[in-house]
Amino acid sequence: MRKTLVAANWKMFKTPAESTAFLTSFYPLIKSNATTEVILFPSMTSLPALVDAARGKSVEVGSQCMHWLDEGAYTGETSPTMLTAIGATHVLIGHSERRRYFNETDARVNLKLKAALAHGLTPIVCIGEHSEERERNLTANVLKLQLSVALEGIERSALGPLVIAYEPVWAIGSGHNATPAVAEDAHEIIRDHLVSEAGPEIAATTRILYGGSVKPDNIAEITRMENIDGALVGGASLDPVCFSQIIANVTPHPGV
Ligand code: PEP
Repeated sequence: MRKTLVAANWKMFKTPAESTAFLTSFYPLIKSNATTEVILFPSMTSLPALVDAARGKSVEVGSQCMHWLDEGAYTGETSPTMLTAIGATHVLIGHSERRRYFNETDARVNLKLKAALAHGLTPIVCIGEHSEERERNLTANVLKLQLSVALEGIERSALGPLVIAYEPVWAIGSGHNATPAVAEDAHEIIRDHLVSEAGPEIAATTRILYGGSVKPDNIAEITRMENIDGALVGGASLDPVCFSQIIANVTPHPGV
């Protein structure tokens, strides 16, 4: 079965000192929770300090973005080799803010996903529709297209580590989460599409997280849904107490 997973996307917040101070306050609050995996995605400058601070703790640390090449003349970019060299284990790919502001297209998501898998970084691939697309009944088409292009040319046997985050763009940072039923509907579309793209085994074991205005008071009902395996959390992950309450309130899948 799929173990629940909750990840913190800190976006462009927290210095290295603030990031490690977060862990100091946060870890005692969650360390006895064995049912949910926890990953922190700090800013790039906080990554080395947070990776070091998280050593020996049941918390993993990843990068919010990366280039797909190992090295080259790409000013400002960070390669998968550089991330694994400092001990990062995960990477976010295709977050809607990266898609919107930094030209992270579906084709680049595909290149980054291939690079992450080749380097042993666990990828969390973010997909989701805009509000106009939902209003025009295009949600299923958008999700399927984003997923198909992301997976293009990747062997099924390589997809074991894949994690997907369904993040409806209209719910991110808006304070208005998708209802559990609306989110479950999208997760079902994604899982069904995974069956045709990657086969039934990968579809059954791939974790699909929900992201978009998750809070301590809505996580339980969201994760109660059959196809929702955890959450990617932005704003509410910045405070250690608030984020620990989200983790405590997750509804784990039966049998895990
Ligand atoms: C996110 O940035 O991935 C996100 C889900 O943000 P928020 O929780 O603030 O909506």
